[in-house]
Formats: sequence, structure tokens, C-alpha cells
Amino acid sequence: METQIKRNAYEVVVVGGGTAGLTAALILGRSRRSVLVVDAGEPRNAPAAHMHGFPSRDGMPPAEFLAEVRREVTGYGVELVRDRVTAAEPDGDGEFEVTLEGGGRVHARRLIVATGLVDELPDIPGIAERWGADVIHCPFCHGYEFRDQPVGVLYRKAAGIHQAVLFSALSSDVTLFLDGTDEDELPDEHWQTLAVAGVAVVSGKVDGIEVTDDRLTGVHLEGGRVFPRSVLVVPPVMSPRDTLLTSLGARTKDTPAGPFVDVDPTGQTSVPGIWAVGNATGPAEQVVNAASAGYRAGVALHAQLLQSDLDREAERRRAGVFSPEGERAVARARAAV
Ligand SMILES: Cc1cc2nc3c(=O)[nH]c(=O)nc-3n(C[C@H](O)[C@H](O)[C@H](O)COP(=O)(O)OP(=O)(O)OC[C@H]3O[C@@H](n4cnc5c(N)ncnc54)[C@H](O)[C@@H]3O)c2cc1C
Repeated sequence: METQIKRNAYEVVVVGGGTAGLTAALILGRSRRSVLVVDAGEPRNAPAAHMHGFPSRDGMPPAEFLAEVRREVTGYGVELVRDRVTAAEPDGDGEFEVTLEGGGRVHARRLIVATGLVDELPDIPGIAERWGADVIHCPFCHGYEFRDQPVGVLYRKAAGIHQAVLFSALSSDVTLFLDGTDEDELPDEHWQTLAVAGVAVVSGKVDGIEVTDDRLTGVHLEGGRVFPRSVLVVPPVMSPRDTLLTSLGARTKDTPAGPFVDVDPTGQTSVPGIWAVGNATGPAEQVVNAASAGYRAGVALHAQLLQSDLDREAERRRAGVFSPEGERAVARARAAV
């Protein structure tokens, strides 16, 4: 990926080059928009060796998948740069000045923020090192690979119960570790759900995991007890990378995972000219959903730019002023019909 920006102004700057941002860029590139994608290169699923649940790409390494999308996107003239956007400021005319960590500064008519989220893991020794391998969070992404095996689930309020129940459909040997939570804190209906689902419950604080030959083999409790397990399911605390959006005044909404930026079905935020897509807008945006959100935002943003150019030109014509760029916009609209 490039490290230098080629121009000082783009119709669209996409912040974040994971699946969501790149898919938006793909549609905008195919619509012949000038697009810059700035990507810091830390996609959320990077720790996993394989990606699942994306039709036709099931099992593909995530890095290979993104490299392929980048190849497709640049084929349509989209520019990709490895850098980090540190600020975006309104220019007073409904557009934006974007600052990059590497020192670059570009003008953008519109912004798409596709910065993803950060998974905050519990401070238990060994968990971070095994994240994405045999410490996992998503039954749909990696659960099948552990079917019929001894599964451990870390209790994190309702999220822990939810995960234990989902994994009980994949294995008949699921144990929920309360990890220091008092048994009495679990509501009666949770105990009933766990019993019906056949989930075992273990009290005590988890203080580590056992790893043998580069595989998770057990969950370690304070006091020395070890429970043999092949996988530990950990519901992370998910924090959207939304500083850019909130600093520009984007409204947030409450979700069970905490506040996320509020977007309409096309990804438009409450701030005119700014779209947000993918995991930056919600915890359930798996790769295929992130791609879909990027696609919808690309379509909507292109149509909105087109309309705004046409409106501006119609205004000019009403005022008796003609311009070559206006003629181009009109001709473009004609071709798009
Ligand atoms: C361990 C693990 C395994 C997973 N496995 C699967 C799976 O098998 N199947 C599946 O469907 N989903 C899986 N997921 C979920 C998947 O990671 C997300 O669905 C997907 O990454 C969301 O795409 P995104 O484009 O929204 O965000 P990301 O892929 O996280 O991309 C965001 C990008 O924006 C960049 N960025 C952030 N801030 C800035 C900034 N200020 N300037 C420039 N760039 C910035 C980041 O560096 C990153 O490259 C998994 C998640 C985890 C944690």
C-alpha cells in the first residue's frame, strides 16, 4: 500500500480500509468518483487465521481476503494509503479538511468512517495471546471448528449466558465459568435456561489458561483447579473507534454493547456529509454485513453527490451562469440514467 498521497482533494475520503471501507470505495470507484482510502492496517479479525461465513470465501485467511479486495479497488482508480486520520474538520462549506498522522492534509467533499472497533479483553494471563485461535467470541465465525469439543465460556452477565446457549448447539459439553461472580447474582431465568441447554456452571475466579503444544487445553481457577477445555469463549467489551465521528458531533444510540454512532439504513450519520459503516456502527457487523453496509453507503453517497451537483448547476443556470464543470455534472447524470 502507498504511503504518499497523490492529490490534495478527493470527492470522498474513506477512513479505514477494512471490509466496510473498501467495499464503499469499490462502489465509489466503479462510479468514477475520486476516492482516497486511509487505512491504519489493524483490521479486527487480524488475529484469526481463517475467516468464516462469507459466501465463496469461507475459510480464507483474513489478510488474503483484504489484499484481494484492495487489488480490486485500486483497479478502479481508488487510491489507498497506509496512514491514520487524526482529525477531520468542517471547512465551513459543508465539506471537510482531513489530517493524517504522517503529516498529510487533504480536502474531502464527503467522508466515510469505517474505523471498526476495539475488543477489550479481560486481564487474564494467556487470553490475549490466544485471541482468535482458541480464545474466541463468535459462534458463527469459529464455533463450528470446535463442534463436539469441551467448550468453556466466561460469564459476562447476559452476554455470557447468550454465548453459552449458542455454543450448546455446537457441543454437548459446555461449561460456564462464573469468574468470581456470586451464583446468587444470576437471575432464576438464567439458571433455568442454562439447565435446559445442558450447560454446566463452575464458580470461582479464572486466573489463567493451560496451553500444551500451542493449543488451549484447560481453564485454570484460583486455588489450582484446572478444567480441561479445548476452547474458551470470551465476550469482549467492544468499543467503537468513533472519536472522529463524535468529535464532529455525530449522534450515538444505546445498544446492549454500549453506545454506537447512529446511522440510517444507508450509513448516513446525523452529521451532513458523513457516513459510517461496519463495526464502527455496531457490534454485529460481521464481514459480510460490513461489506453490505459499505455497498449501501457507496451507492447512497454517490447518488447524493450527483444530486447536489445537479442542484448547484440548476441554481447557476437559473442565475444565468454556465460552467464547464457544471456541464460535466449534467452529462454524467445523463449517462447514469
Ligand atoms: C478474532 C476475530 C475473528 C473474527 N472472525 C470473523 C469471521 O470469521 N467472520 C466474520 O464474518 N467476522 C469475523 N470477525 C468480525 C470481523 O473482524 C468484522 O466483522 C470486520 O472486521 C468488520 O469490518 P470493518 O471494516 O468494519 O472493520 P475492520 O476490519 O476492523 O477495519 C477497520 C480498519 O480501519 C482502520 N482504522 C481505524 N482507525 C483509523 C483511523 N483513524 N485512520 C485510518 N484507519 C483507521 C483500522 O486499522 C482497520 O484496518 C472476527 C472478529 C474477531 C475479533
